[in-house]
Amino acid sequence: MQRTYIKELASKVGEEVLIKGWVDVRRDHGKLIFIDLRDISGKIQMVALPNHAEAHTLANTVRPEWVVEVTGKINARPERMINKDEANGTVEIEILSMAVLNEAEAPAIDVRGDGKDVGEDARLKYRYLDLRRPRMQKNIRNRNKVMLLVRNILEKEGFCEVETPSLTVATAEGSRDFIVPSRLEPGTFYALPQSPQQYKQILMAAGFERYFQFARCYRDEDSRGDRQPEFTQMDLEMSFATEEDVMAVNEKAIIEVVKTLYPHKKIQQIPFPKIPYTEAMAKYGTDKPDIREDKNDPDLLAFAWIVDFPMFEKTEDGKWTFTHNPFSGTKAECFDDLMNKTNIEKIVASQYDIALNGSEMGGGSVRNHKPEALRKVLEIMDYSEEKIEREYGHMLKALSAGTPPHGGIAWGLDRMIMILENEPNIREVIAFAKNGEGKDLMMNAPGKVSSEQLRDLRLEIKQKKS
Ligand code: ASP
Repeated sequence: MQRTYIKELASKVGEEVLIKGWVDVRRDHGKLIFIDLRDISGKIQMVALPNHAEAHTLANTVRPEWVVEVTGKINARPERMINKDEANGTVEIEILSMAVLNEAEAPAIDVRGDGKDVGEDARLKYRYLDLRRPRMQKNIRNRNKVMLLVRNILEKEGFCEVETPSLTVATAEGSRDFIVPSRLEPGTFYALPQSPQQYKQILMAAGFERYFQFARCYRDEDSRGDRQPEFTQMDLEMSFATEEDVMAVNEKAIIEVVKTLYPHKKIQQIPFPKIPYTEAMAKYGTDKPDIREDKNDPDLLAFAWIVDFPMFEKTEDGKWTFTHNPFSGTKAECFDDLMNKTNIEKIVASQYDIALNGSEMGGGSVRNHKPEALRKVLEIMDYSEEKIEREYGHMLKALSAGTPPHGGIAWGLDRMIMILENEPNIREVIAFAKNGEGKDLMMNAPGKVSSEQLRDLRLEIKQKKS
């Protein structure tokens, strides 16, 4: 017999079906044993009656989270047993036969509620159980829907998804890199990308014109609240594009995502307002202002573009550094100042961030596509000729090979889904999240490696002085 999904049962009263899934709960009512069975599509109440002796005996032994298959007859529930609040509240399965496909130990955490009463470390350690709860299933599946829709939208707009490497070199996004030792060349290291920034610009040099990627990014920051050491960006780059072009494509995609997948949500203002950085700072004291008219409305989405950022800021030691990344270009009217290295504090970048309900949802810029302009940025930051050559030589070369003007953006996908799903933190929308200390409690990462591995890498661990 073909398996039937539980959500299809209500329309098949009188039929005999085969269903498979997890035991949600079992209730003994003397001779009657009730079992709620759960599969990917829903839940159904089943009843084992003493006249099907074998199934009845087995039903007595099953426990929550056991995996079973059942053949049964779908019966309409008697009037007084109908539960209007449940999808399958009008029917129940009379168990004819049952087989246990796998037993389960008593679950370490309860998987039936929303999980808010379970300690987070336990939820992350037993993530395979935690992900069974409907709330997590919904979050992860909706995340998938958003990704699928964005892919389709961008495909129609002429974008091509290209995967870029995870093993690379430092990518200058202002954070610390995770590094990976090379065995073949001991003493050298790969870095995990903080973003695909350089690769996506090089794809513009390579003539792809419109690129995107759901890209995994890695940043080794001290645990700061809601950050993850690895996270996902929807990363995009377009050739021959102005700031307005990049913002328009993204705004259109975001609006379509909300209207299609979250139709009950209201976008406060379309087109999204554009707020200059200085105005945002003066008015709201932040460059990711929460401009919601009603901050208590969980379904209100207030997007805003923040524009006209300063290109440079001073570091603690009095040198200039970039405010976002070194690849941003300047506003046309500031280009001469960049090239002459004058009025540095007044140079405005062609940078735009997107804020959503007080969070930074993403950001991007139109880039310096001329090698001499990128070189000036690096010179202003007091990089030596040798450092420029070593760290940016490949970019300068690529820009010298006929690279069109280009610009792009990246959205923090986790944060966006978190807000759309009304979740309090991004760990609720990441299947296998790390805890606040950057640990994967289920896999026990980071972990020690064997002395053979260290020897192959010619690495030695120095003991901490006590
Ligand atoms: N690479 C930038 C970031 O990760 C985004 C961009 O400028 O496109 O924030």
